[in-house]
Amino acid sequence: MILSTHAVVGAAIATLMPDHPGLAFLSGMASHFLIDAIPHWDYPLRSISVARGPSPGLTVNRPLFRDLGLIGLDAIVGLTVALWLYATPTAAAAVLLGALGAILPDPLQLAHKLWPREPLRTLQRFHVWIHSKRKLRWPIGIASQLSFVLLVISVSEALRANLA
Ligand SMILES: [Zn+2]
Repeated sequence: MILSTHAVVGAAIATLMPDHPGLAFLSGMASHFLIDAIPHWDYPLRSISVARGPSPGLTVNRPLFRDLGLIGLDAIVGLTVALWLYATPTAAAAVLLGALGAILPDPLQLAHKLWPREPLRTLQRFHVWIHSKRKLRWPIGIASQLSFVLLVISVSEALRANLA
């Protein structure tokens, strides 16, 4: 899924454990793999196609910068929305780490592309394996991902209300 979705989901989970930033980080990472297994839409990357091809390395060209810009923007938007939604003074650390943990597996794919060794190799294999092979198309993909985010926000809201 896109990084914004991962960030908000990671942050929503983190609010259930506001006093445990380390656990929030790990739960965020776990959530990345779990929700990648759901059929979804990802924006097309022109230069960095991490899912396929064993060829290591990246070519430095325009499409690469376009991809990195898109990924960076996606991550910043996601972190901003996540913090805006959830970063109360007491939960800020857990929320930030939950969101970062949820984003991390995708930059690690990039790291694997540049440095295809262990433990990145095993992580990459797992990521590709669990990632849904069914691609949803525009605009169903966008609508379903947005509904999914809203669903996660409401479920975590309900869980928090029950925990309180
Ligand atoms: Zn992923």
